[in-house]
Amino acid sequence: MGIIEHRRLIILGAGPAGLSAAIYAARAELKPLVITGMVLYGQVTLTNTIENYPGFPKGIGGIELGQLFEEQAKVFGTEFAYDEIQSVDLSARPFTLTTYSGSYTADALILAMGSRHKKLNVPGEEAFVGRGVSYCGTCDGWFTKDKNIHVVGGGDSALEEALFLTRFARSVTIIHRRDALRAGAILENRARNHPKIHFLFDSVVKEIRGQEVVEELIVENVKTGEVSQVPSQGVFVFIGHTPNTQTFIGQLELTPAGTIRIDEFMETSQKGVFAAGEIADSHFRQVITSAGMGAAAAISATHYLESL
Ligand SMILES: Cc1cc2nc3c(=O)[nH]c(=O)nc-3n(C[C@H](O)[C@H](O)[C@H](O)COP(=O)(O)OP(=O)(O)OC[C@H]3O[C@@H](n4cnc5c(N)ncnc54)[C@H](O)[C@@H]3O)c2cc1C
Repeated sequence: MGIIEHRRLIILGAGPAGLSAAIYAARAELKPLVITGMVLYGQVTLTNTIENYPGFPKGIGGIELGQLFEEQAKVFGTEFAYDEIQSVDLSARPFTLTTYSGSYTADALILAMGSRHKKLNVPGEEAFVGRGVSYCGTCDGWFTKDKNIHVVGGGDSALEEALFLTRFARSVTIIHRRDALRAGAILENRARNHPKIHFLFDSVVKEIRGQEVVEELIVENVKTGEVSQVPSQGVFVFIGHTPNTQTFIGQLELTPAGTIRIDEFMETSQKGVFAAGEIADSHFRQVITSAGMGAAAAISATHYLESL
């Protein structure tokens, strides 16, 4: 497939990091192209309400926030390609990107491809996806109406989603491998005081069983080794994320956490290639921090392009 287009700056990913980078780069008149990947707006589409993004004291829907980011990026001339990156060649300049529909070259890149949810990797998980196993409360919450379900995980996402699922489910039991949660205090208090939420601490899911749909979980207590059969009508998994770095392995330095290594200017080990958001951050993982990194990456990319 021939080269179809050259751009000064291409942004890979259309989550909070990519779209914020686009706003800044477009305002610097770089006419950035955003290649969106499969999930326009990124992970914010997986959550019902975002309560901690400044400017929205009453909270804002995840998709609605994504739409506002996109609209603001378009005001200043960002273009979008609804396509997915298949491979990237950073060994020669300009850099070459291959997508499903063609190829691009670019003088500078901002990598903002985020991360994807981790799986439990236990028997039954794969087989019951869509039949009781889910990774998105907003998407599948409705199917839990009047059911007794489980949420696996103990961080912010797990608790937020468990609270959201109480709107539909009869009961939500949170299964967490430790005896203390990792979530923020407000969420923890809300969850602990919710009459529909229960906890199974020090426990891990070993298997998901059922006929047509999920019917029970095999749960092991990690302290006592005791294994029990727990009736369940659905299991939502929120146990962390893996950064989407596959395309760059062998081309860019990674951190021990598996994220792309960047310096304080958001620059990767390759000059002219910047990274922002969860692809380069395994620690903060918020809309505001990802958006902030996106803005910083765009400012650095602007300086880099001016220096050429
Ligand atoms: C259930 C849930 C609830 C959350 N709640 C909150 C909250 O209340 N407040 C908060 O601040 N944060 C919350 N977060 C976290 C927040 O959504 C993320 O920190 C943020 O979305 C990360 O932004 P990002 O731009 O780095 O990546 P992502 O949002 O992961 O976006 C990645 C983008 O890259 C694209 N992409 C991936 N692969 C490719 C490819 N090969 N080619 C092209 N594009 C590609 C995707 O399509 C997507 O557009 C929540 C997350 C989850 C999962």
